[in-house]
Amino acid sequence: MTILLPGDAMVVLVGIAGSGKSTFAQAHFAPTEILSSDEFRGVVADDESDQSASEDAFALLHAALRLRLRRGRLTVVDATNVEEWGRRQLLDIAGQERRAAVAIVLDLPVEVCLERLGGRGARPVPPHAVRRQHRELHGSLPTLGAEGFRTVYVIESEAEADAARIERAPRGSAGHNAMSRRNRARRDDARSSNRHRNA
Ligand code: GDP
Ligand code: MG
Repeated sequence: MTILLPGDAMVVLVGIAGSGKSTFAQAHFAPTEILSSDEFRGVVADDESDQSASEDAFALLHAALRLRLRRGRLTVVDATNVEEWGRRQLLDIAGQERRAAVAIVLDLPVEVCLERLGGRGARPVPPHAVRRQHRELHGSLPTLGAEGFRTVYVIESEAEADAARIERAPRGSAGHNAMSRRNRARRDDARSSNRHRNA
């Protein structure tokens, strides 16, 4: 899968705990491009897993997101983002700063995620919380595009995550040029196959 990103986009990772969001972000983006809710919990509370610090952590994350988007810097939000109200806050910021929003969903089987989390350190996310996140995610999937994401990419396996490639449109060019090129190619394909049928 090739993931096309406008060079100044907000990229929202969506996935339950253990789905590989942070791994994916670190593989494809520069550290300064990634805003991680866990890291901001660390910033405000010295503990990345302190859920009581979430509100303050997101206040900082949202502020950093807004300022980076204002400067036209591509920014990746590494948080579960499985709840509509959380995504809405991000989409509002991107809309106000006139930047495109792209979602990359890591929709791996919940059992895979639970198994991966089993190996995780001091305070693991409880399985019932992971299953709740999974239900939230699946409730959201059909309508993510309608929320305001320009494109929604869905990765469903480790193999797909490994094979994903990121292509960036140059900053300043409207990112939709890349998309419309692709759509033009699709349209041309459709036309040529019609021609074949008509011939
Ligand atoms: P997050 O909670 O969504 O940020 O997930 P992480 O990126 O922290 O990944 C959770 C665990 O799964 C970590 O131990 C990762 O090393 C592991 N992991 C992430 N992506 C992959 C993958 O593609 N293949 C395998 N085998 N493990 C992965
Ligand atoms: Mg993570």
